Amino acid sequence: AKLRGRAQICGYEPSMQTQLSWRLEMEQALRLALVEGQLSIAFQPQLDQGERIIGGEALMRWKHPRHGWVSPEVFIAIAEESDLIVELETWMLERCCELLARLPASVLPRLSVNISVRHFTQPGFVEGLTWVTGTHGIDPARLVVELTESIMIDGLEDAIERMQALKRLGVHLALDDFGTGFSSLSYLKSLPLDELKIDRSFVSSLDTDCNDAAIVETVLAMAQHLGIDVVAEGVENEAQRQFLLQRGCGLYQGYHFHRPMLVEAFETLLMGQGVA
Ligand code: C2E
Ligand code: CA
Ligand code: CA
Ligand code: CA
Repeated sequence: AKLRGRAQICGYEPSMQTQLSWRLEMEQALRLALVEGQLSIAFQPQLDQGERIIGGEALMRWKHPRHGWVSPEVFIAIAEESDLIVELETWMLERCCELLARLPASVLPRLSVNISVRHFTQPGFVEGLTWVTGTHGIDPARLVVELTESIMIDGLEDAIERMQALKRLGVHLALDDFGTGFSSLSYLKSLPLDELKIDRSFVSSLDTDCNDAAIVETVLAMAQHLGIDVVAEGVENEAQRQFLLQRGCGLYQGYHFHRPMLVEAFETLLMGQGVA
């Protein structure tokens, strides 16, 4: 639906043909973007209960030479239709490891990266991660790999096996967008997860929708019970922060604290907070 947005602005419903050729055009442009340096990474700080920055989420950005900024929801979906997503995320992982190598763990404890199911199920994925952390000499435990519930698409067993291979390397694993998928609470206890990210759709309506408040409350209680950390994403005001804090939420991310920012700004922010 998102892909049709651009054409709809022009006042017509695009034909299948138009949509297809637009997609192909964008895919080619995206391949070029990687070599021509049009891609960048924005970092959004993650804070602990005392509002100290303990890490950040790396979010991909693309500025198309003619169309300007393209939403990641749009270009990631295009990249995910082929192995282009593997190339993009490999590039991103490389940049993140460079940043982790440049900053000591006392300044930047960790970085979270989004990994698409297509990349996650790629045969050489674990080897690639081992290599990239190894060549930069960083502790894999400083990387948090964010996965979505779609990793269970080929069955729970396969997903668990792959996740365990990552755990053996030492990286941390987070389940992203929790609550939006075909979520069943029962599988949670069988996944080797370190962290759960409550989707921002629940967090943003915490203070106005009592059903969402109840869901968030339940998720926090359950995660505590299972010994999994929780990151609340999309925290936009103090009322939401207080609600989460009172129910033991450990980590916070959202516009209330910081928007995603360029690497220079992120480093300045980290330096300004001093070493713990
Ligand atoms: P996500 O992983 O759920 O990332 C969080 C999104 O929420 C980001 O959108 C972030 O800018 C936004 N956000 C954070 N705090 C707030 C808030 O307080 N209010 C609101 N309204 N929004 C907030 P962004 O950067 O547009 O990214 C969208 C999605 O694109 C990401 O959602 C993720 O699914 C995907 N994405 C971005 N980079 C990558 C990547 O390298 N690989 C993959 N597979 N997906 C990526
Ligand atoms: Ca994410
Ligand atoms: Ca998310
Ligand atoms: Ca999301």
